[in-house]
Amino acid sequence: MKTFAELDLIGPLQRAIDAAGYTEPTPIQQQSIPALLDGRDVLGCAQTGTGKTAAFALPVLQHLATDERPGGRRPIRALVLSPTRELAAQIGESFETYGKQLPFRSFVLFGGVGQRPQVDALRRGIDILVATPGRLLDLMGQGHVDLGHVTHFVLDEADRMLDMGFIHDIRRVVRELPKKRQNLLFSATMPRAIEELAGTFLDNPVRVAVTPPATTVERIDQSVHFIEKGDKPRLLHDLLERLDVEQAIVFTRTKHGANRLVKWLDQRDVVAAALHGNKSQGARERAIQGFRNGDIRLLVATDIASRGIDIEGVSHVFNYDLPNEPESYVHRIGRTGRAGRAGMAVSFCGEDETGYLRDIERTTRQRIEIDMENPWHSESAERLYASGRRPAVPAGVRARQEGAAAGGGRRRSGGGGGGGGRSSGPARQGGGRPNPSGNAGGGGGAGNPSQRRRRNRGGGRSNEGSSRR
Ligand code: AMP
Repeated sequence: MKTFAELDLIGPLQRAIDAAGYTEPTPIQQQSIPALLDGRDVLGCAQTGTGKTAAFALPVLQHLATDERPGGRRPIRALVLSPTRELAAQIGESFETYGKQLPFRSFVLFGGVGQRPQVDALRRGIDILVATPGRLLDLMGQGHVDLGHVTHFVLDEADRMLDMGFIHDIRRVVRELPKKRQNLLFSATMPRAIEELAGTFLDNPVRVAVTPPATTVERIDQSVHFIEKGDKPRLLHDLLERLDVEQAIVFTRTKHGANRLVKWLDQRDVVAAALHGNKSQGARERAIQGFRNGDIRLLVATDIASRGIDIEGVSHVFNYDLPNEPESYVHRIGRTGRAGRAGMAVSFCGEDETGYLRDIERTTRQRIEIDMENPWHSESAERLYASGRRPAVPAGVRARQEGAAAGGGRRRSGGGGGGGGRSSGPARQGGGRPNPSGNAGGGGGAGNPSQRRRRNRGGGRSNEGSSRR
């Protein structure tokens, strides 16, 4: 196995990797980086969580640093297309992290926010552009984006792009690129449509693939409740009483959310410990130790803090907030069902989280049974989910947007925003669940549908909300 030092990365990148705390390259990095540094095209099969962003960002940065730079105004030399603004923002952050010691400007472009600052940034000059297709095409159409000097083109999460109906947009972008360039295509899955797309613009690519780090564990019983945000605490409280919970981890999106929930539970005499990055090392260790020896029954944690918790007695995992990365879902629910035991993973899905639920189901290739057996079932969240439309502002994006506005990053467009391109009517190519009330309804759900607790809504529930648009 190669170390980072053996991958022939230049000093500024090695130092940035050290600063990020990476000790060795992940398998996808081991496989991709040498081929990409050699100038080959790469077709990569890897999911989020495998380190795929660094696998393409490091070689792209190295090429930009070592290749001859065209004179004149700073032209866009690397273009990364991403299906969603969340992913685009993450990729932008990665370029910032890895390129810290290099003099490049990266910028993230997506729809739903004013285009003025974006146009200004483009005028000032950008080396690396990360974009969702819709806004990119809009600005290209208005003459604000020149792709005539792009030497590196990355298509990330290509399967999701196709699912969202971006195929024509991708083709239109590719047509504007110079013929001579390096191409990278990354996709979590490799269906025929992706192979075909790859055939149209990759030149004799090196194929790299990693098996997903985790697949959803079959014996874990998974269910989801559609619920308004404000009802989540009560539903959790109710389930803690109703279900046979030995020990549980409750995952929240934010540290603040974790603290707030612990306090709320405490007021109802439910003892829980919070575990997140703001806690001191000592406090974290005490919480984990208390949980391990059974003194603490409930741990309310953020993703960051949950890595590496391997405790046999965890009978339940609650996704109080759904993660925006499907990998995190798999990782979280894997905290239960340890050592051959059964486990239950119960997720809460608010209206602003329905897109995440769909992503999770697509990645795990499993449908999660909807549990309506509670007084707070949210019809509107379920309808949005069933429609296949993504929420206007997904959970988590607003916070980042506000944070970015306050922080004012120097080289990025900053945070989230609306839009993500033309996703208002995503094409539905599988992975969806057109009829939410169809009980067993196909699709390889792993649970045992006959045991599901489905509310009988006398006379059959209307399915109008699930109509396709
Ligand atoms: P990605 O699959 O690109 O979304 O990366 C998943 C996570 O892994 C990110 O938080 C990266 O910061 C982290 N990561 C990427 N490469 C490495 C590495 N070689 N060692 C440790 N962490 C890494």
